[in-house]
This record gives sequence, C-alpha cells and structure tokens, in this order.
Amino acid sequence: MDIIAAISTGNSVCAIGIVRVSGAGCFALCDKVFRPLNGKPLSAQAPRTMIYGDMLDAEGRLLDRGLAVRFPGPHSYTGEDSAEFHCHGSPVVLRELLSALFAAGARQAKAGEFTQRAFLNGQLDLTQAEAVIDLIDAETAAAARNAAAQLDGGLRRVLEPIQDALLDISSRFYAVVDYPDEDIEDIQPEDITRALTSADADLTRLLATCRRGKVLKSGVRTAIAGRPNAGKSSLLNALAGYDRAIVTDIPGTTRDTVEESVLCGDTLLRLIDTAGIRDTEDTVEQLGVERSRAAMESAELVLAVVDGSVPVTEADMPFLLSAAKKPRWILIWSKSDITPADAFLDFPMPLSAEYHAPAAVVRLSSVTGAGLDALEQAVSALFPAEGGMDAGTLLTDRRQEEAALRARDAVHRAAQALDAGLTPDAILTDVEDALDALGELTGRSAKEEIVSRIFSRFCVGK
Ligand code: GDP
Repeated sequence: MDIIAAISTGNSVCAIGIVRVSGAGCFALCDKVFRPLNGKPLSAQAPRTMIYGDMLDAEGRLLDRGLAVRFPGPHSYTGEDSAEFHCHGSPVVLRELLSALFAAGARQAKAGEFTQRAFLNGQLDLTQAEAVIDLIDAETAAAARNAAAQLDGGLRRVLEPIQDALLDISSRFYAVVDYPDEDIEDIQPEDITRALTSADADLTRLLATCRRGKVLKSGVRTAIAGRPNAGKSSLLNALAGYDRAIVTDIPGTTRDTVEESVLCGDTLLRLIDTAGIRDTEDTVEQLGVERSRAAMESAELVLAVVDGSVPVTEADMPFLLSAAKKPRWILIWSKSDITPADAFLDFPMPLSAEYHAPAAVVRLSSVTGAGLDALEQAVSALFPAEGGMDAGTLLTDRRQEEAALRARDAVHRAAQALDAGLTPDAILTDVEDALDALGELTGRSAKEEIVSRIFSRFCVGK
C-alpha cells in the first residue's frame, strides 16, 4: 500500500498540530523532512519515543522545531510503519510539512483512511472502527463513554459468541454435506435448536438497546411548544446556558429547519425548528400553532410550555392537546419566579384514551434557573440508561440495527426450517444469511472462517 499523510488536527490556529504518515517505507520519507537534534535519523531512533528536532520544508529549509515519533508496524494504529510530527499548530506550518512529505513521495490520505487501514490490517474490527468516529463526534460525556467502551471491544464481545455459535452450526452441516465419508459425529437437532434459540434471544436483547443507543449518539428529537410569550425561547436560552450549552446550528435548505442541540442533564436534546421558536415575526397565533404541530410530529419528546404567571387560556389548548397526543411529553409551567406558588392550579386537560398524561409537570423559571434540575431529572427518567446493558454494548445507528434485524430474521427462518424437518442445506442457507448480516456488523468474514473451521476440526484430506 502506498504511503499516506494528513494533518490530523483541526484547521485552525492552536498550540500544537499533528501531521501523521503511514505506509511501508515511510521512515525513509520522514528522514527527509525531520532532522533530530541528537544527530541520528528518525528511522534509527527508538520506536514509540518522542524525538526533538527540526522539521524541514520541501526545499530542505527550516520550517519548525518540534517532536516526532515513529511506530514500526505492526505496533501502530494502522498496523503499518507510521510516524507523527508534533509541530506548532499553525495551519501554514502544517501544510508546508505535509507538502514536504508529498514531495518526498507520500500522498494525501482520504477521509478515514488511517482507520480503514487499521481495519484492513486487523488492528480494529468494524464495530471498533465505528467507535473511533463516534468518539470523535461524541456530544455528551455519556456518548463518549459508550464509544470508548465500544472501541475497547464491548460490542464485539456481545456479537462474537453469537457468531461463533452460528459458525459452529454451519461448519458441522458443511462437513456432513460435503464430506459424507468422514467419520464425523452426528448433528443433534436439539443442539442446533438450542444454539438458534440462544442466538435469537441475544440478538433480541441487542436490538432492544437501539433506542438508548440512538439517544446517546444522536440525541432526543425534541419540540418546544406553547403559545407566543409562554416563555419558549427563554427556556431554550436557559437550557443552552453557557456551562451546559453545546449549540450547533445545522443549516438546512431554509432557515425553517434550523436545529440546535442542548444538553439537559446527561441527555442530548436535538431541538426541532428553533427558528420557529426564536422568530418573533412568526408569533402570529395561527402560524405558531402550525409550526409547533409540524415540529411535534417528528418529535420523540415535547416540552409544552404554559405561562404560569397568567391563567391558562384557550390559546394554550391547541398546543397542549397536540403535546398530549405524544407518549412522551412534559408540561412546563414557566415564569415561576413571578408566579405565586399557589397559582399552579389544576390542569384543564380533557383526558381520554387519545391523550397521554404528561410524564412530569415542572415549574420553572428561565430567569433564576429554578426548576431546571427537575426538568433534567424528568428527561433522564424518560430516557434512562439501559438497565443491565454495559456501556459499549449498544447498537447506535440504523446500519447496525438493520444488520442485527436481518441476522435475527435469518436465525428465525433457520429455526423454522429445522422444525419443519428440512434438509441441512436449507437450514445452512439461513444460518449463512445470519452470519453475513453479523459479518456486516463486525467485518468478520464468515466464509473464510467456516472453511478454516471445517479444516481444523475434521482434518479433511489427511
Ligand atoms: P416565547 O414567545 O414563548 O418564546 O416567549 P419568550 O421566551 O420570548 O418570553 C416572553 C416574555 O416572558 C419575555 O418578556 C420574557 O422575558 C418573559 N419570560 C420568559 N420566561 C420567564 C421567566 O422564567 N421569568 C420571568 N420573570 N419572565 C420570563
């Protein structure tokens, strides 16, 4: 594989910046752009040790003075010979050093290529490679913890036993079908049934983690609803207060689709249509109702805000009724700082089967911050950490969920085929479909493993 190089730190001015290079033969390139002060070339220096020296540009002129480290393969991130240069974090210096590496024979790494090489060289499986991306993108401490545990092999450890059990079934069937003359122990249908049942249960348990996994990774799609002046944008601002804010504008095609994320306790709320909340021109009543309804439609959680300082009016009702159609909503009485404590009277909701009671009723003041902790508690009670599931063992995206679903469906079919007394090759097809789907999750190729298992167990061709 050719030698790749890239700037691994962000493209902004900062104290330190790192350029990374990887590929067989890369140390010879490194010697052209880095001159250790101790006189020995980097390629002759101790591995995994920071060496102080001069960075040179493509013309051999002094560019910066900093540190370099070499990682001979396979004891490196990519599994290949690789090196890092820690320079001063000027984008210009970093680009010049990169150009010098290109001039020496490296090429620009593509997005994710270092991690892709790590995967191809067996340093990481797919679940771990994805965890690297999740860790970098993590927006909450909980999401980072989960990604770190997945990087440590958490998800692989859940998937591997399932894969192993299915590989076992498949290699036994193969051996019987392909090598009928070999002296192979008979397959006991009840053993197979037991293995399939347990794979089914494990996959079902794993699939149950999807909701929590997606909440961790992508946050909870949340709508703030209420009539104009209820205190919605003040609540948004309070949630996005300095110490707790992670405010990211996601520019959409129009300003109507602006979303922001705020951290509510440990839960990331992805607020839908914050343009609608913040836009004072849109405080025309009917328009407000329509916008809120649209935002509420796709929301998993609705925060319905009612001005606590004035009596509930007819104008509150459309918001409250729409919110109550959602299984998860929280009723917020706002402006508690200017409202006498006894002013929060019974809530005039027409409760019927069509409507859900609010998961919590919270009095809060966006001015003083009183009640925000109660809101945080109510939200985390609605989206709790999965009981019994360890960090790193959650499915966190659609791709993973779809692959796990396909695997479980195939396991079901295999069990049915076995019950119906179908021939081993019919069952095999389903088991292999399940293995293929699991292989998509972990990147482990089932075909190769089946073959190697057959040969290791049955010494065919002795
Ligand atoms: P929105 O139209 O629902 O977004 O309402 P705003 O957040 O713009 O608030 C309407 C008015 O109520 C503004 O004058 C706010 O300053 C005021 N307000 C909002 N929340 C509070 C609160 O918790 N306490 C007090 N005293 N005033 C508030």
